[in-house]
Amino acid sequence: MCEEKKEAELLKEKLCLKKEHFDFVCDDEYQNAEDFCKGYMHFLSEAKTERECNSFVIEEAEKNGFLLFDSRKTYKAGDKVYLNNRGKAVILAVIGKKGVSRGAKIVASHIDSPRLDLKPTPLYEDSELAYFKTHYYGGIRKYQWTAIPLSLHGVIIKADGSSVKVSLGEKENEPKFVITDLLPHLAKEQSKRTLSEGIKGEELNILIGSRPFKSDSGSELVKLNILKLLNEKYGIVEKDFISAELELVPAFPVSDIGFDRSLIGAYGHDDRVCAYPATMALFEAGIPENTAITVLADKEEIGSDGNTGLNSAFLKYFIEDLAEAEGLKGRHVLSMSQCLSADVNAGFDPTFPSVHDKYNAALLNHGVVLTKYTGSRGKAGSSDACAEFMGEIRRILDGAEVCWQIGELGKVDEGGGGTVAMYVANLGVDVVDLGVPVLSMHAPYEIVAKSDVYSTFRACKAFFQTGK
Ligand code: MN
Ligand code: MN
Repeated sequence: MCEEKKEAELLKEKLCLKKEHFDFVCDDEYQNAEDFCKGYMHFLSEAKTERECNSFVIEEAEKNGFLLFDSRKTYKAGDKVYLNNRGKAVILAVIGKKGVSRGAKIVASHIDSPRLDLKPTPLYEDSELAYFKTHYYGGIRKYQWTAIPLSLHGVIIKADGSSVKVSLGEKENEPKFVITDLLPHLAKEQSKRTLSEGIKGEELNILIGSRPFKSDSGSELVKLNILKLLNEKYGIVEKDFISAELELVPAFPVSDIGFDRSLIGAYGHDDRVCAYPATMALFEAGIPENTAITVLADKEEIGSDGNTGLNSAFLKYFIEDLAEAEGLKGRHVLSMSQCLSADVNAGFDPTFPSVHDKYNAALLNHGVVLTKYTGSRGKAGSSDACAEFMGEIRRILDGAEVCWQIGELGKVDEGGGGTVAMYVANLGVDVVDLGVPVLSMHAPYEIVAKSDVYSTFRACKAFFQTGK
């Protein structure tokens, strides 16, 4: 009996797929994960929008020896360059020993997150209170955005072409903003609405003031007082909102979560939680065999369209420039290139188990998730990575002893989603999704495990350092 059991265990060991906990794979790495996440949490606090991420990353890149890319120059192995796409997307590259002659190694993440944008004519007064009208950006559950502190970030271009940067509501002594909701006592009718209609788009109005400009006569004096304050602080008039990009994001501080401090709570892990590891991995990749590229894109949350999104040509043009500098054709280089589409996946949430297929769901603390395909309704809108490329990535991750797991977004008929993978794949590049499992994805406050953030960094680094 005892012998038989032993045989079964040995056979199991040999044949069965193990879902290994970070604890099991990298027990001695917890401190490294903790140290890495300190840097990540600093980044989360400093850079809350695509523009702020762009500036933060370029500043760090310059400290690490990266120079502005010049397509007329020829570069040699070890040279580090960056391309700034309109202050909202950025490409970083380290030229490899083989250059791009065997293709490039690309990690692509996005630095935009779901949020509330101001409408072009946002400011109004109603019943002696002043408000901003908003138009939400990306897939949000609208009811989650009321009654929480919000901060205002962005840029305003004035009539003379000069620009003003705005960041208000992050520091402790700065005012914050809020969307009000009904009190339960009077919410009888509202409570009959479905959850998706609980708060409607036109109800996402930001409370921004209540004190009138002191005057014996005149109407809308609260609005007038706000305009006066804005004029004093930023030198703007109401018409300047037309040429502005102002975004409201949650003003919660970044925090450790749990008695064991194993988790991080923050706004916008999606997808800064992959953008940061992808950037740090490139900084620490040394001189790779193949030119290594980290691209941090904008507009993923609204479908990657627009000239700062990955459904535009800026990555393709950059690689074509690298190719031409080496006397190669861009399309040949693209066809030989490989890409990790580093984006988050849904972590299994035991409070809502019914949306997940438990055999294929990603678990927190089980490492970076490799996702063969995303999409919805039968893989629509997905880049389904081929078996050969899956095999190659699997060998890289196992070879570097990265803690990783395989995962799917949710049950087949439950919903779905997409990433930048298909837009990079459309260039002829081999692509697969890989990233951090998240709880409460797209909520104002999302949760990730520190061990998974660190595992994503290790995965990106191993990918860059493995030549082809
Ligand atoms: Mn994402
Ligand atoms: Mn997203």
